[in-house]
Amino acid sequence: MIADVANLMNLAPKYGLYIDGKWVPASDGKTFTTYCPATGEKLAECAAATKEDVDAAVKAAQKAFPAWAQTPVEERAKILNKIADAIEANAPRLAMIEAMDKGAPIRETTFIDIPQAYGQFRHFAQLIAGEEDVLVTSVPGTYALQIREPLGVIGQIVPWNFSLMIGSWKIAPALAAGNTIVFKPSSATSLSTLIFAEIIADILPPGVFNVVTGSGSKTGQFILDHPGINKLSFTGSTEIGYTVAKAAAEKIIPATLELGGKSPGIYFDDCNREKALEGVQLGILFNQGQVCAACSRVFIQDTMYDEFVPQIVEKFKRINMGLPWDMNTQMASVIDETQCNKILGYIEGAKKEGAKILCGGKRRMDGEFAKGFYIEPTIIEGTNDMTCAREEIFGPVVVIMKFHTEEEVIAMANDNEYGLCGGVWTQNINRALRVAKAVQSGRIWVNCSTSCANGIAFGGYKKSGLGREISRSALDYYTQVKAIEISMYEGLTPFYTQ
Ligand code: NAP
Repeated sequence: MIADVANLMNLAPKYGLYIDGKWVPASDGKTFTTYCPATGEKLAECAAATKEDVDAAVKAAQKAFPAWAQTPVEERAKILNKIADAIEANAPRLAMIEAMDKGAPIRETTFIDIPQAYGQFRHFAQLIAGEEDVLVTSVPGTYALQIREPLGVIGQIVPWNFSLMIGSWKIAPALAAGNTIVFKPSSATSLSTLIFAEIIADILPPGVFNVVTGSGSKTGQFILDHPGINKLSFTGSTEIGYTVAKAAAEKIIPATLELGGKSPGIYFDDCNREKALEGVQLGILFNQGQVCAACSRVFIQDTMYDEFVPQIVEKFKRINMGLPWDMNTQMASVIDETQCNKILGYIEGAKKEGAKILCGGKRRMDGEFAKGFYIEPTIIEGTNDMTCAREEIFGPVVVIMKFHTEEEVIAMANDNEYGLCGGVWTQNINRALRVAKAVQSGRIWVNCSTSCANGIAFGGYKKSGLGREISRSALDYYTQVKAIEISMYEGLTPFYTQ
């Protein structure tokens, strides 16, 4: 690693757990190592939280809850704004840490991950300051007051693809609503969360935000099983999503689940070709395709197919692969060897099922790529029933297919168990609206891709999840409604006593 990068990251060799405003080692002293997937270099040691540690974090969050829940919303909003300022003040460092910890290009973490993170805190600070309780008259002689109250201690678990960004989607609304948190990042990418805890340590009261690092199967499972957790908020695979949903059901607590995707990108022959090409690229190559929202199935109208496909191939061949810290790098490493082999396995499987690889398809091991997990941008020409078109590959691999009519492509787009996002490229506004309405997913882009503006709900239909984040509706998922009815009668209730 070059000295400038190491200096900018300024990492300690070892990080503890952040519980009740203090840094502590794991109760059994165990740690795990976190590496930069792009270079194979060790970044730091992190504590592996035990059941006792998770219990301590939950107890700290329970203790902090009453005071935090009663903190006036104006004060909570002020604190959220201070957190946003702290993230922004540390943006270059956090962007580099995130890039190195997940192996992604610094230009993406600089322009997307970190601004999204501080943007979320500002957004919810603004929202919560404007929240009003609702006072309504009900039956004659009675006032009814409806208020929203926080849920208590929230267990939050996030994946490795956008640690701090997805973390902020959960932490900001939960805190805004008056909850306290026990947070677990992925063991592959814990550093940005730990640095976040460090830089906001003086802003939040002790116990309001706690971080337990460790593996999903141990630390994560301890969170799911803990009786003191009042809500689970999980982002990750649909497979683990089932486990989270079952844990929530057993305790009858709510769960927000942001899960996998296999989103369709639909290209009609009247689209702006340049924008469309950018759409295909952004849709699958951003963050090496390790994006739940990736448009990993691309449907191209038959009347433009033969002309458009070679243009996509050309574009993908020109992608600049490189090391994460280089601002010119467009694509870097996937997260680890397991993910790398899984992606290559899907490509091999596609060939066996009769698909054609139009470009890429291989791991790069030449020169500076030798120690990382770099996969070439890959285009598979296949059909909608092939495994590569049905399952989430979570890599820089797009499956392209041909369609004839609008009706046909809507059916193809919806023929999948996921329903997270989707995109439609056309200059016909009527068609854009028809398709956007007909595709079964939580978000549809029209002539754009992969954007995620603060304030616009994010979440899935079908097996892509339950609940919404990023927008005002997230506050609903972090609160419960209490109705208070107030009698105005001096005497006894008439119908009961007569
Ligand atoms: P994952 O394997 O499901 O892991 C997600 C998180 O859950 C990690 O922190 C993981 O910890 C933890 N975990 C694993 N097993 C657990 C268990 N038994 N109990 C509790 N926690 C457990 O997913 P991933 O591979 O990290 O992320 C990729 C997936 O996330 C993809 O499917 C992607 O589509 C999805 N995703 C969805 C969204 C969305 O908003 N819909 C956004 C981003 C990603 P460790 O990593 O430490 O084991």
